[in-house]
Amino acid sequence: METILKGRRQQVVKKDGKDINIACEKQSLAGSVSQRACVFCGSRVVLYPIADALHLVHGPAGCAAYTWDIRGALSNGPQLHRMSFSTDLREKDVIFGGEKKLYAALNELIDRYQPKAAFVYSTCIIGVIGDDVDAICKRVSKEKKIPVLPVHSEGFKGTKKDGYKAACEAMWKLVGTGNTSGISKFSINIMGDFNIAGETWMIKEYYEKMGVEVVASITGDGRVDDLRRSHGAALNVVQCSGSIIHLARRMKEKYGIPFIHVSYFGIEDMSKALYEVADYFKDETVSNNTRELIQSEVNAILPKLNWYRQKLNGKKACVYTGGAFKAFSLIRSLRMLGVQTVVVGSQTGSPEDYQMLGEITDEGTIIVDDTNPMELAKFVQEKDADLLIGGVKERPIAYKLGLGFCDHNHERKIPLAGYEGMVNFAKEVYTSTCSPVWKLVPRRKHLYEQQVETNCSGSCHECESTCDIKTQCSGAA
Ligand code: SF4
Repeated sequence: METILKGRRQQVVKKDGKDINIACEKQSLAGSVSQRACVFCGSRVVLYPIADALHLVHGPAGCAAYTWDIRGALSNGPQLHRMSFSTDLREKDVIFGGEKKLYAALNELIDRYQPKAAFVYSTCIIGVIGDDVDAICKRVSKEKKIPVLPVHSEGFKGTKKDGYKAACEAMWKLVGTGNTSGISKFSINIMGDFNIAGETWMIKEYYEKMGVEVVASITGDGRVDDLRRSHGAALNVVQCSGSIIHLARRMKEKYGIPFIHVSYFGIEDMSKALYEVADYFKDETVSNNTRELIQSEVNAILPKLNWYRQKLNGKKACVYTGGAFKAFSLIRSLRMLGVQTVVVGSQTGSPEDYQMLGEITDEGTIIVDDTNPMELAKFVQEKDADLLIGGVKERPIAYKLGLGFCDHNHERKIPLAGYEGMVNFAKEVYTSTCSPVWKLVPRRKHLYEQQVETNCSGSCHECESTCDIKTQCSGAA
């Protein structure tokens, strides 16, 4: 408890019964060194995958550099989203204003790249000097005849969650401006999947096999014209709820499009998502297609997962995510692999999210909101976890402590969603957790020896391609 700052004590609980009484949705405590990103970063990660739009960061070069190519979000067409344009404000601009520079940058970039739309992100300094970004965007939009959309994401004005909302507000200006003719009655928008390592493509393929049309992917491999006609879809299927729910609610209010919450991580949640979409349409063909699809995908991967389960059984994991929805799926997927989650937390969880975590975790699990590196390191040691699942900021904590790490954040290059993604996830967890390198860490040496003893059956012909233990095991083939 002495590791936890006094002002944060209500944001950490140890599960004892089902009701979780935890403080959350607060500003980060000063001096805590939160793992959270700023408002601007929140907007940038949501809008980033819209590949045929221009993304211009109005502020110092550092804000743009910080978020340059921030996601592993792929596009099968334009790559404009991967550029990091900045108005590069300097001292003189801060004193005399950056509006002229913004106007000039927009003109030059639009002429050069011919984007379908432009997003202009306000950073901290814009909130301080008060540039009229809306007026410049309006003027350029009129002159260039494309939507030029201000994103009110001044970094200091809230949490990352406020950035998500600012991104949704910017996209909302595009929704409803396109032609919806020809859209199937069995149609959806995929919302809150960002095509990390091509995941949206996999999910889209599942829906197509079910007989469901995907009108827009918001925003993984996103296109401006798809967003414009997304109000023609029959259903919004929302994954990363924190980031995109504001837009889904807007679409429900104005166009009457209902939304459902899903997750594409893990067999259980992936299958549930597809069944729920099929149930919504109440069509026999769609239902049959869905059943066949799920059966064939699950049958194909179960033997592989069973192999990993044998190797991982009894391991312990710490899970720290941005939004809490991912943590739910991770806990279930880890359980399926025989791994117990002993610490779990998120940067932006709501009271409902933590209640849900309380329901699905084991007694004694540490549940934490908006943690910091000191706390995470302490919890991981206290619970003697074998694995930390998080993002780029958590990776060094894991390696310094000498335990496995699995990147489940937006920088990763391996798809972890869908059925194929579940096998990749199991492999990632296994190769990192059971790596022989941990025998060099004194604190964990005894565990490694135990693992070699208990995990290796001596029949390495089964696991030739993936087993790292065999090189250390004298009983092996
Ligand atoms: S917007 Fe502000 S907090 Fe965010 S990167 Fe820029 S300067 Fe830093």
